[in-house]
Amino acid sequence: MSESPFSNFTSGKPFVVSAAQASAAWGGARGGALFRCAWCGHKFREGDTARWVFTNGGGEETRGIGGNPFVCAACDAPREELIGRLREMRALFETKFWWFTRHSHDRR
Ligand SMILES: [Zn+2]
Repeated sequence: MSESPFSNFTSGKPFVVSAAQASAAWGGARGGALFRCAWCGHKFREGDTARWVFTNGGGEETRGIGGNPFVCAACDAPREELIGRLREMRALFETKFWWFTRHSHDRR
């Protein structure tokens, strides 16, 4: 019996990506399409080190920055720093890069 590719990510600790994880339907997208680092965009492959960052449930601290991203080994940092970076990225896309998120404004 094989283990679910999703079974070891909720610990919040770094893990080595398996072949099954690299192609799993993270976020509902087939072929591992959304299994990427939220900070540099790296698409995880078998053998990479990845870590899941829990951001949901943080109240005001994490509001509007997106839920529970993965981070690669090169971008990893303490949670507070990662959340700070996400907030800066969000602010940039709300202002300077507004064009790329314009359609999401229709749903607010
Ligand atoms: Zn990265």
